[in-house]
Order: sequence, then C-alpha cells, then structure tokens
Amino acid sequence: MSRILITSALPYINGVKHLGNLAGSMLPADVYARYNRAAGHEVLFICATDEHGTPAELAAIEAGQTPAEYCNEQHEIQKRVGAGFSLSFDHFGRSSNAPNRKLTQHFCEVLEANGLIEERTSKQVYSVDDKRFLPDRYVEGTCPNCGYEKARGDQCDNCGTLLDPVELINPYSSVSGSRNVEIRDTRHLYLLQEQMQDQVRTFVDARAANWPNLTTSIAYKWLDEGLISRSITRDLSWGIPVTQNGKPRPGFEEKVFYVWFDAPIEYIGSTVEWSEANGKPDEWERWWRTDKGAADVSYVQFMGKDNVAFHTVSFPVTILGSKEPWKLVDKLKAFNWLNWYGGKFSTSQKRGVFMDKALELLPGDYWRWYLTANAPESSDTAFTWEHFKTTVNSDLNDVLGNFVNRVTKYAAAKFDGKVPDGGAPGEHEAWMANELATRLPALIGYYEQMEFRKAAAETRAIWAAGNEYITKAAPWTAYKTSVDQAAVGIRTGLNLVVLFGIIAQPIIPETANKILDALGVPEGNRSLSLAKLGAGGYPALLDALPRTMPINVPPQLFTKIEDAQVADWTARFGGG
Ligand SMILES: [Zn+2]
Repeated sequence: MSRILITSALPYINGVKHLGNLAGSMLPADVYARYNRAAGHEVLFICATDEHGTPAELAAIEAGQTPAEYCNEQHEIQKRVGAGFSLSFDHFGRSSNAPNRKLTQHFCEVLEANGLIEERTSKQVYSVDDKRFLPDRYVEGTCPNCGYEKARGDQCDNCGTLLDPVELINPYSSVSGSRNVEIRDTRHLYLLQEQMQDQVRTFVDARAANWPNLTTSIAYKWLDEGLISRSITRDLSWGIPVTQNGKPRPGFEEKVFYVWFDAPIEYIGSTVEWSEANGKPDEWERWWRTDKGAADVSYVQFMGKDNVAFHTVSFPVTILGSKEPWKLVDKLKAFNWLNWYGGKFSTSQKRGVFMDKALELLPGDYWRWYLTANAPESSDTAFTWEHFKTTVNSDLNDVLGNFVNRVTKYAAAKFDGKVPDGGAPGEHEAWMANELATRLPALIGYYEQMEFRKAAAETRAIWAAGNEYITKAAPWTAYKTSVDQAAVGIRTGLNLVVLFGIIAQPIIPETANKILDALGVPEGNRSLSLAKLGAGGYPALLDALPRTMPINVPPQLFTKIEDAQVADWTARFGGG
C-alpha cells in the first residue's frame, strides 16, 4: 500500500466552472483518486476555491456584495456542484481561510530571512477619484500592442499580450470609469526568483523522466528564458495581509499578497483545514512535512496547461526557497484544452456548458464518461452535442446498460433471481477468461500511467468483450435445449456484470454502485487491485459470485439521448 497525495488545480471563485475546467483538472484527479482507493492505497485528495485577486473583488462589486459575502456564497455553490459530479475530495477548502493566511505569511517571512525577498519601488496607476491604486484588472485602456480599446491591466483579451497596467494608453478605472488617473510610486515585495534558477532546474531535472512532455516542455521553456524577480504583493484590501515578524508590515497596511503567491500554498492550507476538521490538528504534517512522515508520500498534481509554469517553477521557488522540509510534487499531469466546437469555453463570455447547467440536463456519470473518454491529453479536443450523444448512447446505454439489464433480468426470470449453479464452463468461457487475462492488466497499466483516455477505451473494450461472449454463449437459445448450458452463460454473465461494475468505479461511480449494490457485492470485494482480481486466475473471476446467492436487477442505468434533446440543447446553449 502506498500513500498518495492528490491535488487538483484550484477552481477560481468567480462563478461556476465550465466543462472544460472539469475535464482538465478536477475530473481526472477524481478518477485517479478513485482508482487508487479501489486499488487499496491510502489516498488524500485535496482541492479548494481560489478566492483572492482582482476578478473576485470585481465580481463582488458587480453582485453588490462584499468580497467575503460573495466568496462565501460562491464557495458553497462550487462545493455543491462538485458533489453533483461525485468529486470525492477529502477536503474542499478555501484559500481565504485562516490556515492559508498563516502559511502564506510564514513562507514570505522565511523567504525574506533567506535573502529572497526585496522591497522595491514601482510605478502603479492611481485613481484620484477612487482614492486608490488600480492593480491588474482594475485598470483598462488601449492595448499598446494592437490598439484594442478595452484591454485589461494585466492582459489584452484581443491579442493575448501580458501587460503591466502602466503600459496602457488612455487608462481608466474599471471601478468608476474615471479617467482622472495618474502614475504614482508604490512599494512592493519582490521574490528574487533568479536566485533560485539552479535549484529549480535541478528539481525539474530530477523529475523530468516521470513527467509528460507537455509538462517538461513548459517548465524548461521558463527556465531557459531565465527566471526573473516578481512582485508578490498588490495594492488591494481583499487578500492576505502582509506581515513582518508576525505583525502588520510597516508601509504595507493597505496591501495584500498577490493571488498567485498564496493560491498554491492553499494545497497545504486546505490539508490543514481537513486535519483540523477531523479533530487531528497535526495529521496534515504526515502528508506535507518530509521530516514528519511525508517522505514516502507520492504527490500528484492535476491541472490545465496554463497552470504548468506556476506549478513547475513558481511554487517550487517558494517551497525550495524556504529551505524547510516540505513535500514537493512528484508527478504532474497536465491537460490541453477541451474546446466548445471550434472555439474556447469562456467563463467571462459565458460560452459553452457550465457544470451546474450540465447537471440539470443529465446525471454526473454521463458527463464523467464522455469527458474521460475524450480527455484532452495528447492534444486539444472539441465537445459537440452530436459526439456526446453518440458516445453516451453507444458506450453507456448499448454496451454497458443493455448487458447488465439483459443478464440480470434473465437470471430473475429463469433462475429464480439467483446465481445459477448448474453446468460446467467450456470454450466460450475460456475465450472470455483469455480476454480478461490481457485486458485487465492493460487497464490497470493505463491507470498507473495516468492515461485516462486509454483507460476509458480499455474499460469499454472489456464491456464489449462481455457482449461478444454473451452472443457466443447465447444462454437464451441454449435454455431451450439445455438448462445447464444456459446456467453457465448466465452465471458467467452475472460475474461479468460485477466485474463491469468494479472497473467502472473510477469513471462512473454512481452507476458502479448501483450495479454492485444490486448484485450484493460487499464494499470489501470491490477491489481494483490486479493482485486481488487475478489472484485465483481469470477463469475463477468468472465464477466468483457464490452460487445460488440471490441477486437483484439494478434499476435502469441509462436512458438514450434523443435527437429532440440535442436540438433543444443546441438551441439553449449554442453549438452546431
Ligand atoms: Zn492587444
């Protein structure tokens, strides 16, 4: 048994996330967490809402709330929606909670003690009418690169150029619209990342062999360009206060830490929240402190490709720069984009389907299956309603649902609702056992390698092999001439139903539970460990259920998606 710490990139607080966000971090992290739990490992799966920064403050202003009120409400909504998708976080915390505040201030103070923090004066846009500095998105104006007139202080949405607010032409306050702005001096803390260049490269080199190309290419691109000092504070009131020796830092009373500094620290903060919530306030240390038991933890992070640089370079600068024994990431799984037809999902432009709306259309398992089977692993992939319909109807309804329904109903009708006892296995059962002997190890291998598309494809292939088996064995035909022969087919079929449920657990957990509950499989017999599944040999796996044990017919697992639904959804959400 191993100990595996899993974190998903933190969803930002400004509204419910779209399916692209789900597909590129939270869902695969959950699939991996569920696989490892089912394989018998000790798993801690941590996530949280990322609540600081200007977009949160601006969204609160738009909603007529204080940032704290806005974040309280949005956190609860995101938590509820996540539960609707069966995301099995051990804790879903908040970057605005006390543990993260304490840790963020701690890291800054030790980094400063280690000579990696410097106070510098910089130029910032100041709004005379609003009586405040305008960091990042608080200021808008004309892009110096392309001339777009609504470029935001941190980035131009039109040409994508990263900007410093002082570069904007004709700047104005996005709070009040006032153009009465000027450039003033302000003091900020800078993290001297360039001093950590060699240490971060050594850290990346040591892990590169275990990281996918997408991850290493981004990390090395940043390292090759050279790390530079970066400001880790902002002129804002919503955020973590800046301290020195545990007291408010002089001159920084109206400043807070930049969201990109505190957000990744919340992986630790949320674990502290989890440990406090469970009445074991020191328990988090055995996951995060290598001097307190975390040295043998395997730490796996999940994220979209836009987050890779922050996790392979920026956050390691914080951790390594502290010179304290913190756990560093071991494996990092990054994803490309799931697109909405030809273009991008967009939270700000409300383009595509959002998680809460998706759950109003269909249960979480339908989406989980589609998004895993089409995970944007090797390249970007595109969501279309037609493809979604075809995938759900074929994989879930025809291949899995019909098999479970047909076999269990026949057992109920012809074998008294019990696992049949008669007959002896023959060539068809041998063929099926042979299929499992190849396919189950392949499936487990894909999960171990975090190849989620391939894991879904192999899961489907095993379901399809079961269908092929039952067509060959044809118990419904055999019943007319030999009840014993039919008994073998249905007994094998029922054991396959159980196996199909067991292998479905990581991707479609609600469905898997319906199947395994109906077949009376105890929690302790749902292991996805190859050592346990193959322990008695694969033929034995087809005769594992106690003979004559009563079983129930599971409720209908799926309903087919109709053309009329696709037309309705296309009209409501776009696409086509
Ligand atoms: Zn531009």
